[in-house]
Order: sequence, then structure tokens, then C-alpha cells
Amino acid sequence: MSSLWLLASRRGLHPKASPTLITSPFIQRLPRLPPTRPFNWTPKQNAQYQIQPRFTGPKYQRFSQNKIPFYQSKRFWVTTGTGTVLFGGYYVTHLETVPISGRTRFMDITPRQEEAMAKQAYAEIMSQYGNRILPPNHRLSIFVTNVAKRIVQVSGMDDLKWEFHVIESPEKNAFVLPGGKVFVFTGIIPIVQNEDGMAAVLGHEIAHQLARHSGEKLSFAKILFVVQITLSLIGIDPSFIFNQLMLNFGIMMPFSRKCETEADSIGLQLMAQACFDPHEATRVWQRMEASGGKEVPQFASTHPSHKNRVQRLEKELPKALSIRSSSDCSTEMRDYAEMFQQVWTRW
Ligand SMILES: [Zn+2]
Repeated sequence: MSSLWLLASRRGLHPKASPTLITSPFIQRLPRLPPTRPFNWTPKQNAQYQIQPRFTGPKYQRFSQNKIPFYQSKRFWVTTGTGTVLFGGYYVTHLETVPISGRTRFMDITPRQEEAMAKQAYAEIMSQYGNRILPPNHRLSIFVTNVAKRIVQVSGMDDLKWEFHVIESPEKNAFVLPGGKVFVFTGIIPIVQNEDGMAAVLGHEIAHQLARHSGEKLSFAKILFVVQITLSLIGIDPSFIFNQLMLNFGIMMPFSRKCETEADSIGLQLMAQACFDPHEATRVWQRMEASGGKEVPQFASTHPSHKNRVQRLEKELPKALSIRSSSDCSTEMRDYAEMFQQVWTRW
């Protein structure tokens, strides 16, 4: 029976199977079995007989994928090491000290580059406010320029091509562009009230120029860019750390506030050295606060809050007063008019 069964199971394939046996009704009624593999079977030739896996979903990854964490890869350490050495060297050789405040910072923008970049901003401001800039012989232009001259003189930056423009506009603001282009809005005049108040505002703006804060901001932005590139090179998605919100609230705004605080401090010393009354600086910020308007909370602002400014300025007042007393202001006042006339005619 077993040999008959074997023959029947290989029906049509076995060369020795007798045609009568295979076609006999008994054999015909037997179930058809799959043929056995030929001797020289390879999966390619007989693909239809391969056993298909029952589960056809994605493969289980744990042992099949040979992926190691980024911090264990050689590439990570080589990239990080090389980058740190190159960037570290560049960083260290581009450190400098901010005048007056003595803070150490990274700077890789030259004053010329800074000025070239400010040209466009200057053109934009001129096209926006050009027709509202008061003429140089206007009472307010003369007032602003006279105060500014005295501060520029003590700042040691009289080689710059200074420009002081008064814009007729209700904004209570003033700003400086690299290269010594200062803009004052008439809206701030009722807040400054007098020469000393004006000196506080201009001292702050001239301090921004002296400390080259705009160049520092650009240099800082470069560092952030390099860090982003490095992170993406070693396989970390930089958008995780550098999303817009994080960049603004966590990095750029505190950086900007630091610059503002420094400009306040340097400005106070400059105005004191130019024989203005440094007490007036705190009063200006108190008047600014009293003048109303919703103030943005400090964490969300590029500027320190008025309250913080007043507190910090009060702390620095004794230092400013001692600078003022060593400036020999009683005799200097008489000489100023003459001295500045000489300086001013050069510009
Ligand atoms: Zn400022």
C-alpha cells in the first residue's frame, strides 16, 4: 500500500509511474498532494513553493537594526571635537572688552561692516521720517545738538560722523544707528524736560554706539547660527532647542536687556563726565513711567522695566557723582562753548 501511495502522490511526476495506475479511478479519487522538491531546488527557481511568513507587518527592529546612540558614534566625537577646537580658537581670539563697563564679549564684526549694514536702515528711516525731520536751525534741533556735543566730546568718539536728527512725532523714543546717527522723537521732549534729562537719553544712545551693541548682536547671532549648524551635523534636530519662541524669550530678549542695562550704566557715566546732573536720569525714567502707556512685562521686552531701570540707576548714582566731581565742571563749563565750537566745525 505504501509504494502505491508513494506512486500516487507523485502522480504525473515519477517517470516510473505506470499510466494505467495513475489514471485508475482509485488513484484519481486520492487527494492531490504538493510535489516534493526536486533535487536541485533553489528558492529562485521555485519561488511559488516558498513558505510565506504569516505576519507581513514591519519587522521587529530591536536586533535587526544596528543603530547606536549618537553619543557613542565616532562621527559625533570627531565632529564635536574638531568643531570645538576650531570654534573655540576663533571665539577666544575675538574676545574684547567693552569700554567703560569692562565686560568681556565676543565681537567679529568690524565697525565698517557694522556701518555698511546700518546704511540700509538709515535710508529706510530717512524715507519714512525724512519729511518730518526738523531743520538744523530749529530750537529743538539746537537743544539736542548742544547736549549731544558735550557727551560726544567726553566719549572720545569725535572722529565719527555724528548726526543728530529730531523727528516730529509723538513717540516717546530715541535711537541710534551704527556710525553715530542718533534720532530723537519730539514726543520724548516733555519727558526729558531739561538739558540734564536730554543728556540722560542721549548718553544712553551714545553709549550704545560706544559699546557697539549692534555689532555685538550680529556677532552673537553668528554664534547661534554656528551652534545650530553643529547640532544638525551631529544629528540633533536644532529646531528642538531653537524654535522661534525659545529664541526670542530665552536668548535674544535677555541679551537685548543686558545691552540696555549696560547702555544705561555707561550713559550715566558719560553724562556725569560731561557735567550734567546724573540725578536727572532716574527722574527721566520715573516721568516715563508716569506718562502712562501700557508697559510690556520685562520678560517679554527687549528693554528693562522702568522700575528696574530706576533701581539700577540709583545704585550707580554715587559712582556717577564721583566721576562728575572729578571732571572739574565749575571751570569746564566756561570753556565748553569755545571748545565745542572748534570740534563742531570739523564735522
Ligand atoms: Zn537703548
